Amino acid sequence: MKNYICETCGVQYESLMKEPEQCTICNEERQYVNPNGQSWTTLEKMTKEGYQNRFTFEEEGLFSITTIPKFGIGQTAYLVQSAGFNLLWDCITFIDESTIKKMKDLRGLQGIALSHPHYYSAQVEWAELFDVPIYIHEDDKEWVMRPSDKILFWSGESLELHKGVIIHRLGGHFKGGSVLEWKNGNEQKGILLSGDIIQVVADKNWVSFMYSYPNLIPLPAPKVREMANIVKELEFDRLYNAFHGIIKKDAKIAVQKSADRYIDALSGTLFDT
Ligand SMILES: [Zn+2]
Ligand SMILES: [Zn+2]
Repeated sequence: MKNYICETCGVQYESLMKEPEQCTICNEERQYVNPNGQSWTTLEKMTKEGYQNRFTFEEEGLFSITTIPKFGIGQTAYLVQSAGFNLLWDCITFIDESTIKKMKDLRGLQGIALSHPHYYSAQVEWAELFDVPIYIHEDDKEWVMRPSDKILFWSGESLELHKGVIIHRLGGHFKGGSVLEWKNGNEQKGILLSGDIIQVVADKNWVSFMYSYPNLIPLPAPKVREMANIVKELEFDRLYNAFHGIIKKDAKIAVQKSADRYIDALSGTLFDT
C-alpha cells in the first residue's frame, strides 16, 4: 500500500495497492493533465531524488517554505507566527527530517489552513507529523483525496483560528476558496495571505481573480464584486499570494481597483477591441 502523489498537482492520495487511474484534481478544467501523460511519485521517491525545502524569512512572524527543485504547481506555504500560535497557511507536498527539525526550531505548528484544493498536497502527512488539525471549508470537501480525522471542515463565511488570525471564504476559483487575514502582521497594519483566490499579477500594484489560471477562464462580474466587498472589510495593507507575489503596501486599495478594472474589462467598457 502506498500514498501516491500526482506529479502535476502534487496532491497525495489515500493509501492504495496501485496507482490511481487518474488524478481527480488535474482531470478538471481548473487544472490540466500532463500532456506527456499522468505520472505518480511518492515521498520516499522524492527524498531519494534529492528534493529539499527552503525556508525564507519574509518578515517578522512570517516564513515561506518552498520545495526545490520546483515540484507540482510550485506553490509556497507560509508559516505564520502570531503570539504563540503557529499556523501553516497552505501546504506543499514534500516533507523530510530536515523540514521537521527546522519547523521544530521555529516552535512547531498548532494548525494548518488551506485556501483551496490545489494546495492540499501532502497536508495529511504534515498534520500527522505535527499532530495538528487541518482547516478546510466544507464547500470543498469533495476535493479531499486523502481523508483524515485531522481534517476539520469549517462552515459559514469566516473562522477565527486564534486572536487576529481569521480565515474568510471568498469562493470564486473554488466554492470554498478562502484567504487568511492576519491583523497583527506587518507591524499591526495587517497582512492578507491569498493563495490564488486573489492572484498577484505581473504588475505588482494589481491582482486578478480567475476560475482557472492555467486555462485562463475568468469569473463572472457579480462574483468578483462580492469577493472585493468581503475583502473591503478586512484589515490589511500587504498581500502575499502563493508564489512569492507580494503587494507590499496599499494592498487593500489594489484589490478594490483591480476588481473595478476586471469588471469594466468584462463589460466591454474598458477597452476598444
Ligand atoms: Zn493531479
Ligand atoms: Zn488554484
